[in-house]
Amino acid sequence: MKTAVIEGIERFNSPGKGRGLKAAKHFKVGELLFSCPAYASVLTVSERGGYCESCFLRKDSLSKCGKCKKAFYCNVDCQLNWPMHKLECTAMCDYGDNWCPTETVRLAARIIAKQKTQVERSSSEKLLPMQELEAHLDEMDNERREMNEADIAALHHFYSKHLEFPDLVALTMLFAQVNCNGFTVEDEELSHLGSALFPDVALMNHSCCPNAIVTYNGTVAMVRAVAEINPGEEIFTSYIDLLYPAEDRIERLRDAYYFTCDCKECSTKSKDKAKMKIRKLSTSPEPETIRKMVKYGRNIIEEFRKAKHTKNILISPPSELLEMCELSLDKMGSIFDDTNVYVLHMMYQAMGVCLYMEDWDGALSYGEKIIKPYSVHYPAYSLNVASMYLKLGRLYLGLEKKPIGVKHLKKAIEIMEVVYGKDHRYVADIRKDIK
Ligand SMILES: [Zn+2]
Ligand SMILES: [Zn+2]
Ligand SMILES: [Zn+2]
Repeated sequence: MKTAVIEGIERFNSPGKGRGLKAAKHFKVGELLFSCPAYASVLTVSERGGYCESCFLRKDSLSKCGKCKKAFYCNVDCQLNWPMHKLECTAMCDYGDNWCPTETVRLAARIIAKQKTQVERSSSEKLLPMQELEAHLDEMDNERREMNEADIAALHHFYSKHLEFPDLVALTMLFAQVNCNGFTVEDEELSHLGSALFPDVALMNHSCCPNAIVTYNGTVAMVRAVAEINPGEEIFTSYIDLLYPAEDRIERLRDAYYFTCDCKECSTKSKDKAKMKIRKLSTSPEPETIRKMVKYGRNIIEEFRKAKHTKNILISPPSELLEMCELSLDKMGSIFDDTNVYVLHMMYQAMGVCLYMEDWDGALSYGEKIIKPYSVHYPAYSLNVASMYLKLGRLYLGLEKKPIGVKHLKKAIEIMEVVYGKDHRYVADIRKDIK
């Protein structure tokens, strides 16, 4: 089969990293390197009703699936994606509230369905066919293995009516591939919209000082330059949140993607001191005290994540989550500066809870503390920084403080024009709000 090409981009073997992408021409900051439609995608259950199930467009007047009354579409064209929805439609009617496959399982079901009907290489696989995605089967630990087994069981449970499954070996391989290569699609405020697979985009290797960034337009991934890229240079994106110090990033990358990052930032750790900044006190704390507090910071992040995801909101009301944030901030505040990333992490969580509870002033005060250090810790064109300016801008506009709101929104636009492109509807929407 003839390999398709993406103009200006080449697949190559990156020394020590395996497959990768490199530039064959010069790209300037903000330029689109390439775009890639989703091979398969799935809208997250909690966003149903606000977004089209098929193209992920946000719209007020969506039409409902007449059968399950759970999926919503922009128009008839989007509803033609019925083969994908059919996998879930009757099962959701039959199971009712007991229909609860994970997003990974839902995505895997769609991939299997697509592989059955598709013979030609799709436009998402110009440089890398779906089957060749990295799986890291040999490196999986027991916990991962058990999760995969649970996913496979759920797939059989919820999808057997409309899907013939490949054998266990192939299924194990598929789930491992989805776990290493799946993308989470987020909106401009970084709210989770769904999951998708983009084989060509998955070819890019990771760096903590990336020269490219992935954003989405509906279910199409766009890769844009966030630094000048010269011909012959490797194209890197970041797989993880870049807020944290080197040790944390390296651990996360090893756990989730099975490699040790050797980027410039991971070897020089040039930003670590600012990221772990200690409060100025009359007597500086002992190294042991600092070590203990770092350990506490890492633990509380994990504990909060579990509390947010596993606890029932009725048993664990948002006020309790907020209390957890406040207590940890008090404790860390005795040693850590307000710009320390563990402090910032918990402030960000507190802001999220305030937004959920519609405590706009509370959210604003956390956001204002976060934004400046965020701009220092993150790279120049960061979605985390842009979305924080955007949230603050929108909060101020909502509270009828237009001048300061507009100031923040303009900061958001500056970054968003580079990472999303000047013509993206997210940018157009904000311009409308400013007028
Ligand atoms: Zn649509
Ligand atoms: Zn339906
Ligand atoms: Zn790194």
